[in-house]
Amino acid sequence: MFKRGGKLYSVMHFTCPRCHRGKLFVGGFSYRFSEITNMHENCPHCKLKYEQEPGFFYGAMYVSYGLTVALWISVAVASFVLFGGINPWIYLAVGITLLFALLPGIYRLSRAIWLMMFVPYEAEYDIENLKID
Ligand SMILES: [Zn+2]
Repeated sequence: MFKRGGKLYSVMHFTCPRCHRGKLFVGGFSYRFSEITNMHENCPHCKLKYEQEPGFFYGAMYVSYGLTVALWISVAVASFVLFGGINPWIYLAVGITLLFALLPGIYRLSRAIWLMMFVPYEAEYDIENLKID
C-alpha cells in the first residue's frame, strides 16, 4: 500500500526517511517509557543523524498534538454515531483510555512524521549493501 520511496513508507514502517531501510527505534512496541523513547542516534543503514539539531524532536510535539486532537474528534464522532449523542462521561472515559493505550504509538508516529517532513528520500542510499564509513 505504501510504496517504497513514497513519503509515507518510512512513517508506516518506522524506518529512516532517507534510505527506508534503517530502523528509527530500538526494540519493538512496548509500554515501558524507556523503551518507547529508545531511538537510534544514527540510521543503522545510511548513518543519517536522526536528531538534526539539538532539540530537533521538540517539534514532534506539534505533530503529537495534531494526532491527539484527531483521536478526540474520532471518539466524539464515534460516540455520536453509536449512542446518538455525546455523553461527556463516556466521551472522557473512552478518550482517556484510548489516549493511554495509543500513547506509545502516538509518540513514535509523531517523531517519524516530524523527521519525514525534513528529510527527503534518496534512492542512492536505498541499496542492500551500502558502504559508509
Ligand atoms: Zn537511513
